[in-house]
Amino acid sequence: MRERHARSLETFRTWFWTRVDSSGGPTACWPYLGSKLPAGYGQISAKVIRGGKLTNTQDVAYFLEHGSLPQHQGNHTCDNPPCCNPAHIFDAPQLANVRDSVKKGRARGRFSKPKPTGDFSRPVVLKI
Ligand SMILES: [Zn+2]
Repeated sequence: MRERHARSLETFRTWFWTRVDSSGGPTACWPYLGSKLPAGYGQISAKVIRGGKLTNTQDVAYFLEHGSLPQHQGNHTCDNPPCCNPAHIFDAPQLANVRDSVKKGRARGRFSKPKPTGDFSRPVVLKI
């Protein structure tokens, strides 16, 4: 696990960006090339960030761009989990993220609207 022993931030920065495909240019998505979680997010551990705790790659990219981790969590404007382009990552409270998902129709569970069943044959009884 070489990434656990990155000695300095600059060493780590160089190491990190060699694992990101930025060949698409400044406005393209830059996918993380290392191992990823099933959801598509990359996670790495480095002493220079959070003392070696596992950190999502979009938070790492945010850290390298802004000099600090996002206050809440890194969110993608591009909805591309492995993307590490700092131009696509912004800091937002989780609730705003959920609301954003609802707006995009991707939310699951209690935040999502019930699906129309198309069953209008049953009588509607109003208990007033
Ligand atoms: Zn992106």
